[in-house]
Amino acid sequence: MKHSDKKMDTIIAYAKRKGFVFPSSEIYDGFAGAYDYGPHGVELARAIKRHWWKDVVLKKHNVYGLDAAIVMNPKVWVASGHVAGFSDPLADCRTCQTRIRVDKELEKLGVTADEKMSEEEINKLFDQKRDEIVCIKCGSKDFTEARPINLLVQSNVGDFSTDGSNPVYLRGETAQGIYVNFKNVVDSLHPKIPFGIAQIGKAFRNEISPRQFLFRTREFEQMEMQYFTRPGEDKTAYETWKEERWDSFKQMGISEEHLRWNQHDNLVFYAADAWDIEYQFPDYGFDEVEGLHMRTNYDLTQHSEHSGKDLSFNDNGDKFIPHVVETSIGVGRAFVAVLAEAYDEEELEDGDTRVVLRFVPKLAPVQVAILPLMKKDGLAEAAQQIFADLAGVFRVTYDESGSVGKRYRRQDEIGTPFCVTYDYESKDDKMVTVRDRDSMKQERVAITELTNYLQEKIR
Ligand code: ATP
Repeated sequence: MKHSDKKMDTIIAYAKRKGFVFPSSEIYDGFAGAYDYGPHGVELARAIKRHWWKDVVLKKHNVYGLDAAIVMNPKVWVASGHVAGFSDPLADCRTCQTRIRVDKELEKLGVTADEKMSEEEINKLFDQKRDEIVCIKCGSKDFTEARPINLLVQSNVGDFSTDGSNPVYLRGETAQGIYVNFKNVVDSLHPKIPFGIAQIGKAFRNEISPRQFLFRTREFEQMEMQYFTRPGEDKTAYETWKEERWDSFKQMGISEEHLRWNQHDNLVFYAADAWDIEYQFPDYGFDEVEGLHMRTNYDLTQHSEHSGKDLSFNDNGDKFIPHVVETSIGVGRAFVAVLAEAYDEEELEDGDTRVVLRFVPKLAPVQVAILPLMKKDGLAEAAQQIFADLAGVFRVTYDESGSVGKRYRRQDEIGTPFCVTYDYESKDDKMVTVRDRDSMKQERVAITELTNYLQEKIR
């Protein structure tokens, strides 16, 4: 089907029906800004994370992995600037109290209002556009002034004061865990510069209006890498990472036609350059999935000053605070992009429509389905043996219920690229039929060759 014919509502309903994504706490009417990955969703999300980790960490000799705690000393968030300035401008509809994010409403009208602007500056822009901003719930144009709402989520972990006067925060991004461990990595692994530190983990933001499915949630997962370079060498590294990250989207099966770069017009004062990779979401349009930023030496300088620890790098007596190139991508947004890209409704020759998820094989939640033609005559047992042999190598499922045609359809619906059928002839010729999801073509393959055959295809 054409990309422009896809509808997010259809994809969201489908994702729920097929066990990819469920609204959080649904039996209690849900919880805004949180979602749960179901059995197929967790596999897809893990495959996306594995793909990223492989590209960014395992294939590099100079990028190191990390898994920092979600809760940190609150001084981290003062030093990083999040306590003072990590906020979005919010206004309330005076008629029905619906809250809006003023910067996003202005953005829809082609006006840039970013985090760098003061409350007054944002309100000035807001006042100029009030006539064009309408409450989505009641249609009123009567809003309060915009006021900044801090996005950090507070927690009482380790805070036993009765008045909550020592707030702790759930991390608003994973990057700070990397900066505060910079010295530990340098002292323990003695890397040569340039080098990177990467991690995947949960982050929390009190988003004013969580919306658009996994696109804007209050709990989400990030995959972030900070690459530390000599001053003046960050630009070259930045260009290389930009190319690699773009390529990584193609490797996830995303067509370049649905991707674009967006350069930030208004940079925060310390940044040297910032570009986002945007995906053309059905209905939502182009929006950010990954941000790549040249952050100069701002973060390490801040943490040096606030902690009193020397975070400079000593390269044979040449001491400097490294500059940082950052890449930051949300698992949820990548997940929606991969899912929306894979979703396809296809008219078959017999007039039927089949829904098929065309995941690239390395991301498919189930990569191989093993199907005995019949349950009887020893076919099931033989197929189960094949399942057992392949289970440690691929993500495999076994299905013996219903006609083979129906079972093929079920696998198409969750995006399984290969179905392996064990039939009566298999007993004699020791071969199985491998059916390809996209072409629906079938091929006979020797059981002894099956692992190699599938490995080749999945790679
Ligand atoms: P936006 O402008 O859309 O709020 P951002 O510029 O604040 O995003 P960053 O702080 O650069 O986002 O975060 C890096 C990445 O983390 C984003 O590109 C996105 O993929 C992901 N991300 C950020 N906020 C959310 C959220 N509330 N829900 C899901 N993913 C998010």
